[in-house]
Amino acid sequence: MLDQIRSELSRKNARLVAVSKTHPADRILEIYSQGQRLFGENRPQEMLEKQATLPADIKWHLIGHLQTNKVKSIAPFVALIHSVDSLRLLQEIDKQALKNNRVIDCLLQFHIAQEETKFGLSEEGAIEILTSPSFSTLRNVRICGVMGMATFTEDTNQLRLEFRHLKTIFDHLKARFFSQAEHFREISMGMSSDWHIALEEGSTLLRIGSLIFGER
Ligand SMILES: *Cc1c(COP(=O)(O)O)cnc(C)c1O
Repeated sequence: MLDQIRSELSRKNARLVAVSKTHPADRILEIYSQGQRLFGENRPQEMLEKQATLPADIKWHLIGHLQTNKVKSIAPFVALIHSVDSLRLLQEIDKQALKNNRVIDCLLQFHIAQEETKFGLSEEGAIEILTSPSFSTLRNVRICGVMGMATFTEDTNQLRLEFRHLKTIFDHLKARFFSQAEHFREISMGMSSDWHIALEEGSTLLRIGSLIFGER
């Protein structure tokens, strides 16, 4: 399954984030030994514990909601934070990145689903952040693109529309704020149940868990 997913993604220059949350280190090593290096976790504490024991060349992506008081623990090593949804969080990431003498790559998370429970910005909210004077002072965060989670539904039309919405937001932000920034290129969308559609709609980072690791 892993090889099949990766070959389909590589044809479109997209990358796989293997979502390893709840799975133990030995299962992660199995996937690692097949050449996988990007792994996604949704809880900082779990990611921290796994990072301490697993190979150092793993790139850890934080894909779940992040509270400001948890940033400090992952700032030394996190490769990409997918779930930035406020200026306050971005400021804290910047502060902790500076303490670690590094720049932390981030994605802005958007609310594209119909469900109200999912986190994320609106396009207006993102514009507010990107135009605010305090954003322009941040030196240790780098915004590399956008992330979104679609509605939990089997309605493929709706999924397609939601992914398209995220791609449109990406295009708008790229044109207005990042047209010269090569690093602004990631669209993180698609999970086990909808990754084919997300890939067709332009995803560059697919966050796939159960299809690779089995049910949680
Ligand atoms: C768990 C999770 C995934 C992966 O879900 P699967 O259905 O197991 O592929 C993707 N994105 C986020 C934010 C998650 O929390």
